[in-house]
Amino acid sequence: MPDIVVIGAGMAGASAAHFLARRFDVLLLEQEDQPGYHTTGRSAALYTQAYGNAAIRALTVASKPFFDSPPEGFPDVPLLTPRGLVLFGRADQSDSLEGAFRDGRRFVPEIRMLDSGEVCRLIPALRPDYVAGGVFEPEASDIDIHALHRGFLRGVPLRRNAEVEGLERSGRGWRVALRGGDALEARIVVNAAGAWADEIGELAGAAPIGLVPKRRTAFTFEAETGAWPMAVDVDEQFYFKPESGRVLGSLADETPSPPCDAQPEEIDVAMAVDRIERATVFAVRRIERRWAGLRSFVADKTLVAGFDPGIPGFFWCAGQGGYGIQTAPAMGMTVAALAAGEGLPREVRDLGLEESALSPARCQGGAP
Ligand SMILES: Cc1cc2nc3c(=O)[nH]c(=O)nc-3n(C[C@H](O)[C@H](O)[C@H](O)COP(=O)(O)OP(=O)(O)OC[C@H]3O[C@@H](n4cnc5c(N)ncnc54)[C@H](O)[C@@H]3O)c2cc1C
Repeated sequence: MPDIVVIGAGMAGASAAHFLARRFDVLLLEQEDQPGYHTTGRSAALYTQAYGNAAIRALTVASKPFFDSPPEGFPDVPLLTPRGLVLFGRADQSDSLEGAFRDGRRFVPEIRMLDSGEVCRLIPALRPDYVAGGVFEPEASDIDIHALHRGFLRGVPLRRNAEVEGLERSGRGWRVALRGGDALEARIVVNAAGAWADEIGELAGAAPIGLVPKRRTAFTFEAETGAWPMAVDVDEQFYFKPESGRVLGSLADETPSPPCDAQPEEIDVAMAVDRIERATVFAVRRIERRWAGLRSFVADKTLVAGFDPGIPGFFWCAGQGGYGIQTAPAMGMTVAALAAGEGLPREVRDLGLEESALSPARCQGGAP
């Protein structure tokens, strides 16, 4: 019997299992044949310290040393490759640009304001008559998601095609029932089921954390590009970045959805193409690939890590939203330390994060 069963082998479950496996017997359960099939395999793969609230930024910054020098067993490739990030805006978005600069600068001192000419020199596809200015984060990077995920999964027992459909308290912990009739026992259950986390909570009898999966659409098209930074509308209405000789675009949509195998809507692709074409010299003739994924948030948009206050041995690792890849190393460490009853790891505590900011209780209407 494993000490801990982790439900879900996306980036959240894989990183949690990696750090938990240093102290416990762990088994990872994944309903799909491919562990990265859902949101993890559908992201834009950016690491930026200027995104999200203070808790997200702390988890992102605390993850950096791991990305820079991962432990032995990770693929021998850089996990981060410099990309840079420009938040750009029109003249009527100047308040947003100033706000983004002030806000970003509190966490990333290297962030600087750019005028229209500087933005267009960095991203020559942008039209000078569209762009009034930008905010540049030079250290933003592309994440090698495949290498990161593979590294986390290495050495951790994983059962694929193992959909959890029942959770019952039994003697020393939990009886975990799988689709098809099989069952196993474990002392602790870690719920890293992505968009399905509230459904797994319900199986355990836990109060919901109010998770809302939100669909975001992305696509690629052919166009002349260079080694440009990622370009994001400062009000997050659309973005694009060069990717393997193509351009990856998105409407940055956030449409609430039930947990599911998310599919792109034609209208979201068309609106993104329209906005990209207005801002750039790109003429999008053909969409090569399109997809959608669910970014799942709780109300305060911070991640959730901790034991359920009402259900012994049931641990939440959820709410990864739009930052589950860039926060995965610190979140994995945090899950392992909290599950071991040690409080937050020093790496995240030193950045001002408190356990109550991550606790499931704060999302369940109780005192944190
Ligand atoms: C278009 C887009 C762009 C993004 N860009 C970025 C970015 O640039 N940077 C960044 O950091 N993040 C980004 N994200 C967010 C990031 O992808 C997510 O935060 C992250 O992948 C969430 O990981 P997860 O493991 O929680 O979810 P998932 O990858 O969905 O994993 C959850 C797993 O749980 C499994 N599961 C569910 N129910 C059960 C069950 N009953 N039994 C067994 N298994 C179960 C599912 O099959 C799934 O594999 C983006 C997301 C999208 C959609």
